Amino acid sequence: MKDPKDPKEPILVTRSSMPPLEEFIEEIRPIWDSHWLTNMGVYHERFRERLNQFLGVAHTELFVNGHMALEMAIQAMGLTGEVITTPFTFVSTTHAIVRNGLTPVFCDINPGDFTMDAAKLEGLITARTSAIIPVHVYGNLCDVEAIETIAEKHGLKVFYDAAHAFGERYHGTGVGAFGDASMFSFHATKVFHSIEGGAVCYHDEALGKELYKLKNFGILSEEVIDGVGANAKMNEFQAAMGICNLRHLEEEIAKRKQVFLHYMKRLCDVKGLRLPVHKPGLESNYAYFPVIFDESVFGENRDQVYDRLKSHGIVARKYFYPLTNACDCYKDRFSPESTPTAFQISRQVLTLPLYADLPLEDVDRICEIILDHKTEKAGVWQ
Ligand SMILES: *Cc1c(COP(=O)(O)O)cnc(C)c1O
Repeated sequence: MKDPKDPKEPILVTRSSMPPLEEFIEEIRPIWDSHWLTNMGVYHERFRERLNQFLGVAHTELFVNGHMALEMAIQAMGLTGEVITTPFTFVSTTHAIVRNGLTPVFCDINPGDFTMDAAKLEGLITARTSAIIPVHVYGNLCDVEAIETIAEKHGLKVFYDAAHAFGERYHGTGVGAFGDASMFSFHATKVFHSIEGGAVCYHDEALGKELYKLKNFGILSEEVIDGVGANAKMNEFQAAMGICNLRHLEEEIAKRKQVFLHYMKRLCDVKGLRLPVHKPGLESNYAYFPVIFDESVFGENRDQVYDRLKSHGIVARKYFYPLTNACDCYKDRFSPESTPTAFQISRQVLTLPLYADLPLEDVDRICEIILDHKTEKAGVWQ
């Protein structure tokens, strides 16, 4: 653990993990000799193999970022019409559906773990529905059993946005192995990153072939252009960064766990706060620390806590607010009122700073600031 930050220095919600510089330099040295910078080189293939092994999945295709992985997987799966998804996610999930010319149909979320409420799913299925795209929000695993049973009954594909769930296992199964496919994001702000980057894990080799073609202009071989693809290839430097970071991931997650548990210890007895819960059987990656503020009990609402933290240089995130069905770009098409639980949670949630090197003293300070309004008020009343 590092020394606590000078209180004058801001603490942001996350901080990218970096491998030792020398290790990265050694890793990329052969790239100078080879002059092979991108287009599925040695590092791209090595990274893919390491990921298959680490994630416990059969196949992985790499992408320049998580968003393009989502867009291209939706296209490669040949989805049509309507797709049932969640509004309690990063806008990327909804944009990827809409940019494929499909209609997102929003299913409400569970108030407990904020993932898709499987009990509300079946009522949203129509003759036009082709797939379900749920999100493992904050690394909380969706009710995969219920979702996949419903999908099977209705002949729907299941594609998980697993951007938050890298490295997690559920009763020993890597989370990327669920459904027809899963997307991971390796963005710099995520638990594991390749600066920018993304991947789709899948079972069906025919889907893999489509994914490969789409990310490389539809080029199957030198003279065969067999698809209307684009360019979403991961380059060799990204893959090298991924390979380096993967070596340190276990240690990173262990440090995150310490920060997470320290927040739990400091905040667990506070009335009016709801803290994260982990599903039994899930090995968490401790990606986020979302807190739900109940103003009537806690005495202050989410926005007030956010502002007060900010005035002390601590930048938490209203993550996810607004809901994707409340975004300005969708205001003529969708409404957050259709998903009341998600709408409510989006106005009460704040994710607190959490990264491997966040000193526990800083966690103490953040918690003290959160709880400070109680003493301030007490002072006024005396
Ligand atoms: C980060 C994220 C994405 C997008 O991934 P990028 O790698 O940033 O393009 C998609 N969905 C969710 C839930 C995310 O958190």
